[in-house]
Amino acid sequence: MNSSRFRAAVLIMVLLLQPGLLSAEDFDAWLQAFKPYARELGISEQTLEQAFVDAKPIERVVELDQSQPEFIQTFTTYLQRRVTPKQISRGQQLQSEQGALLQAVQARYGIPAQVLLAFWSLETNYGQTRGNFLVPHALATLAYEGRRQAFFQSQLVDALRIIDQGHIAASDMLGSWAGALGHMQFMPSTFLAYAVDGDGDGKIDVWNSTADAMHSAGHYLQAMGWQGSKPMMVEVVLPENFAWQDTGLGNRRSVSAWMQAGVSLAMPDALPASFLAGNDQAAVVLPQGWQGPAFMVFDNFNIIMKWNRSTLYALSVAHLASRLAGGPALQGGQLAEQEAVSIEAIKRLQQQLTSLGFDTEGHDGLPGPKTQAAIRAYQLAHGLHADAYASPSLIQEVARAAALAQEQTELIPGFPGTMP
Ligand code: CA
Repeated sequence: MNSSRFRAAVLIMVLLLQPGLLSAEDFDAWLQAFKPYARELGISEQTLEQAFVDAKPIERVVELDQSQPEFIQTFTTYLQRRVTPKQISRGQQLQSEQGALLQAVQARYGIPAQVLLAFWSLETNYGQTRGNFLVPHALATLAYEGRRQAFFQSQLVDALRIIDQGHIAASDMLGSWAGALGHMQFMPSTFLAYAVDGDGDGKIDVWNSTADAMHSAGHYLQAMGWQGSKPMMVEVVLPENFAWQDTGLGNRRSVSAWMQAGVSLAMPDALPASFLAGNDQAAVVLPQGWQGPAFMVFDNFNIIMKWNRSTLYALSVAHLASRLAGGPALQGGQLAEQEAVSIEAIKRLQQQLTSLGFDTEGHDGLPGPKTQAAIRAYQLAHGLHADAYASPSLIQEVARAAALAQEQTELIPGFPGTMP
């Protein structure tokens, strides 16, 4: 490690020990240490000057980085906010307005027009909300004071490279608070690796050129392994006696094995007979528990999850794309529990499951894979539908069991853990 890189590293570590500080002086000191580091990585003097004119730490960026949700959104709520009648009609309008461009992208990269439109809608409401933060300043703020400093420092260097390459002026590089750029919200590292010049003017302008943004998204999805016009997912119906523990993204089987296990298409008449042909491996997912809608998801679904790791995001992209192609609304989920669960309720659930012998390995308030595994083990042990879903009724059930166990412990004289 050379000396200036070491200096920058030391400075970052010191600032890490002082969370919540947003002093202009400290920020300036951080920037003075960052500049020689960036210069060594080949960033030009001109870019460094232009990118940090009047640079100050942006309070709002830190607030947004630190904000935590209070409730966990249900799939139904998440989907209803993103796949609205307005999004569908606007997407269909754009499908004809941008028809030539979308066809060109499909011919070049094999990504269907509806899929590109669905990403465009989810990311920026078809370009309406591209973000108004000056990206070099936002990323410098996060690299100086944020939860993931090394990540944002590397994104900042990449943003400066984009300016250096002449694609956009530093003062025009706008984006989200976290540095996502343009119509499709590419992070700077993704831009450098995958963005392309779609309209052939020599610049990659994902902010103002729809062609550049669409070609870039097409190129990214192709590079991730997108398979032509194969489906992403389909809504299915599961029988009451289904082996619910087999659901989840991790358990992939052949489509015919799922059919033998009782999975059937929710709306077979709405699909061409060839729909499932050539889709060998699939998983069955229940985003809102066994009473909610059920989906069979294919290889292309996993490509959406490379864009964004959220299952709800991927299901929403796939469903919007299907609606844009004339597909039906969802049929299932009317019985699903709609009440949003708080992070605090999940923390209590995690503590109670652990005390009952179903270890969640921590109490972070998020129903991640370890918590889901503990829920599933509890459900299997108690003859419940083993959907691994932290529903309001499951939370109540576990709370009752934990209270009962506590009561019984207190009734046994001399039982370890009895209160004196
Ligand atoms: Ca261009």
